Amino acid sequence: MSADCLFCKIVRGEIPAKLAYQDEDYVAFHDINPQAPTHILIIPRKHIRTLNDLEPDDAQLVGGMLLLAGRLAAERGIAAPGYRAVFNCNAGAGQSVWHVHLHLLGGRPLHWPPG
Ligand code: 5GP
Ligand code: ZN
Repeated sequence: MSADCLFCKIVRGEIPAKLAYQDEDYVAFHDINPQAPTHILIIPRKHIRTLNDLEPDDAQLVGGMLLLAGRLAAERGIAAPGYRAVFNCNAGAGQSVWHVHLHLLGGRPLHWPPG
């Protein structure tokens, strides 16, 4: 846990968020500035700054984020049409919150390459 991390505050319930899912390891909530009809952020409860800070022991935790993305996509009917699961790592890729998060985007055609 990090005292001044925005997403740790959401994990602790200190900042409200529209939750999509939670369990003992993860919290998923709707992005405050959605870029698609479905835009959910999946985060581990554990504070990890960026993908670059992952340790081998985090492999199962991070793999579980992808499994959860697939489950939430299926529940929302975007698994078959298609969705995107994105980690932005560091400022050059657009990371703005320093707690690892997986963007789950879908519900509209998604173009490639991204901006
Ligand atoms: P990044 O730019 O780090 O990849 O993604 C951070 C995401 O967090 C952005 O899409 C942004 O809209 C979202 N975000 C920032 N602050 C909040 C907040 O207080 N609540 C929620 N639900 N989303 C937030
Ligand atoms: Zn954090």
